Amino acid sequence: MSVFEDSAYRHHESVHFFVDEPTGMRAIIAIHSTDIGPALGGCRLVNYSNSSEALNDVLRLSRGMSLKNSLAGLELGGGKAVIMVPESWNNNPRYQGPERAELFKAFGRAVDSLGGRYITAEDMNVSVEDASNMRLTTTHVVGLDSGMGDPSPLTAQGVFVGMRACIVRAFSTNSFQGLKVAVQGLGKVGWRLCEDLHKAGAKLLVADIDDATLQKAQKEFGAKIVDPDQIVVETCDIFAPCARGGVINEDNVGQLQAKVIAGSANNQLSNDVLGERLHKDGIIYAPDYVINAGGVINIAPEVKGVIDHKWVDQKVAGIEQTVAEIIDASLANDMSTVTVADEIATRRILAARDKGLKAA
Ligand code: NAD
Repeated sequence: MSVFEDSAYRHHESVHFFVDEPTGMRAIIAIHSTDIGPALGGCRLVNYSNSSEALNDVLRLSRGMSLKNSLAGLELGGGKAVIMVPESWNNNPRYQGPERAELFKAFGRAVDSLGGRYITAEDMNVSVEDASNMRLTTTHVVGLDSGMGDPSPLTAQGVFVGMRACIVRAFSTNSFQGLKVAVQGLGKVGWRLCEDLHKAGAKLLVADIDDATLQKAQKEFGAKIVDPDQIVVETCDIFAPCARGGVINEDNVGQLQAKVIAGSANNQLSNDVLGERLHKDGIIYAPDYVINAGGVINIAPEVKGVIDHKWVDQKVAGIEQTVAEIIDASLANDMSTVTVADEIATRRILAARDKGLKAA
């Protein structure tokens, strides 16, 4: 395994490897940038097949957090943590034995050793209770029960308003009435998004690996159930990836039917070049880290030790304008929305770095 040669390594400030023998914890924390502020990003617990896969994931995700936090106008840098599921947990990230609490306390110690350069939170397979266990060994954790609460509704809200900016440009309307939206993944974000879209008059097509959830969506929203392998290329107006990353790849990009791609999943494109391809094909893609920023916006006040729902609501509503500006710049300059967003986000990071260097 080699850090600097990894395809996802992009000038990360530092990458930290942690092992805790008693709990079997093997974790990697990647700090991409602290130019604007301390690096904030969640911690995920995943059954990676090997440490190279875990490293690639954390490098990609931590850079994504730098861009996301910068573009959202937060005073925060970007970082991320991954924990490999211990072998003794039978490959089960949801394992609930007593060792679980010990592992998250060990992870909290790892975070603490970075002295606040990295601030952690929940992410995939990491619960609010796990975060509370981290809190026993570090103060550098947010997303606690006593804090701003579950970020998912705010993420869904941001996706909904960002999607509206897309339909104005793709279909010359700000109404979802009658538009066909294919939602992949009906979890905490996807379900909430479906509720909003249904209320707004959209026709829903849904895919999930959980049958009970699909039946519920059919009953409550009159949604059409689509095979999980088919949903990406299903005939629809808007495709909303809300399950996992890498769903748009070289193999399926040519078969997409949607005119808009807007969803909550991180790293929706298996590589950035696909952003150019979508642009050339006339598909409006709302860059994932722009449209799914509601969750991180929701926990940002906690970093300063405050609870401020009004500020969060205003900031999340602003995602509509941000997405609109990115699409307009993309169309005006014949550049992909990915390139436009990356440039704006990077500019702010570099300006902060410049200022830091001058002040030093
Ligand atoms: P979740 O785990 O609650 O939901 C994921 C859903 O996807 C589940 O219902 C699961 O059954 C389904 N799923 C898994 N594999 C699937 C497949 N192959 N096809 C179809 N469905 C599948 O997660 P969430 O919190 O709703 O987050 C959804 C996505 O948004 C994730 O990629 C997450 O990283 C991203 N995201 C979430 C937030 C947040 O606030 N929760 C913030 C930013 C980004």
